[in-house]
Amino acid sequence: MKVRIYIFIIIFLFYSYKSYSNELSEEAYNWLKDFISVNTVNPPGNEINAVNFYKNIFIKENIDFNVAESSPGRGNIWARLKGGNKPALILLQHTDVVPANTENWTVDPFKPTEKDNYLYGRGTLDMKGTGISQLATFVNLKRLGKKLNRDIIFLATADEEAGGNYGVGWLIQNYPEIFKNVGFLLNEGGSGRIVNNKLVFEIELTQKVPVWLRFESEGKPGHGSSPYESSSVTRLLDGLQYLKNNPFPPKIIPSVGDYFQGLSKIVSEEYSDEYKDINTSIKKEDFIKALQKRSPFHHSLTRDTCSITRLGASNKINVVPPLAWAEIDCRILPDQPAEEFIIKITKMMEPFGIKVKKLMAFTPASSSTNTEFYKVINSTLLDLYPESHIIPRVTTGFTDSHFTRDIGINSYGFNPIIIPLKEFRRIHGNDERVNIDAFKTGIYDHLKIIENFVYD
Ligand SMILES: [Zn+2]
Repeated sequence: MKVRIYIFIIIFLFYSYKSYSNELSEEAYNWLKDFISVNTVNPPGNEINAVNFYKNIFIKENIDFNVAESSPGRGNIWARLKGGNKPALILLQHTDVVPANTENWTVDPFKPTEKDNYLYGRGTLDMKGTGISQLATFVNLKRLGKKLNRDIIFLATADEEAGGNYGVGWLIQNYPEIFKNVGFLLNEGGSGRIVNNKLVFEIELTQKVPVWLRFESEGKPGHGSSPYESSSVTRLLDGLQYLKNNPFPPKIIPSVGDYFQGLSKIVSEEYSDEYKDINTSIKKEDFIKALQKRSPFHHSLTRDTCSITRLGASNKINVVPPLAWAEIDCRILPDQPAEEFIIKITKMMEPFGIKVKKLMAFTPASSSTNTEFYKVINSTLLDLYPESHIIPRVTTGFTDSHFTRDIGINSYGFNPIIIPLKEFRRIHGNDERVNIDAFKTGIYDHLKIIENFVYD
């Protein structure tokens, strides 16, 4: 019933817009349809196609822009509206999308298809839809021509889906001027959701830190028919077994504590108290076990984790190999440097004769709720949706925001579009789609937030 009321409110709000934003929503929707057809599947990326798409719009709108390729075809584009001296705001999007397995889709993933009031296509949620919301806001501010209190920068980049080293990572190294005097950034990572019939806005502030490791164990090679006491393979297995049987102790860092506080108001009642007092709950082994079963996502916020994901040894069944290896996807809470964690794992693996190598690790960084921008997002949402819950989110995955948090920019993962929780499963999966009304409403709400921030 409540869902119906929300849908009704959304529809009501949609039809009560000022006509200019109605037109803007329609225009944005047409842009989105065009953008879905622009091929930016990564690999290989070819984000220059997205650059050309945006370039044409900017030329038409008389907006100056810059383009840079980090490698042939890997295009990035940015544009700036000049304003007052306050710390600038970046609207950040990645233009690449993950591949789509065409046989598992009911429609062509790279052709915009309307069905039952949904627009289907790869990128409708991650994140071409959000990208177009940012474009609509940016173009509209330019058209209105009113004095801005700060610069606002549109930034569309390559390669997020493969780590961002040809996109944001590269731009920070090669075009640092884009990020000069920037205080705030809006990116993907959170949105409006309907959870247990409640309207929730989750604004992502920080992420677990990926620490990707390779374990290697060496031993005397030999014939499978005459095994030694131990080998590269058995030692590796012993080490992995130890890692699996000794999970890292649960701990609640302040941002995760805040997130669970927020979640306690929207999870079903039976879990509400446990979430509210998460610091006590994690001390109970039963709770942690049940949490992992019920919500691997929530569970993984309560501790550092390591997933054993790749294994390799002999390429012949009867050969004992000189080397066995495993690759481990560890995600640590952002309260310690990755190096410290790697030292801990290295010591842990020493008794098994396993060497630990770092494949990749980020630095931990968080953004604050105590900023002008976060407060504006918060108050605008409460104006638009007085009944909503607004929660600062911590996530286990990573986006390009870690690059910009590292250089001190308060980066928020947020688009105000409202999406039922189950729709998120389609991201990187099959039949990715966006509700057309929700998208159009999101255009208006996104603009409202930014207007409240850039006009005095
Ligand atoms: Zn994305």
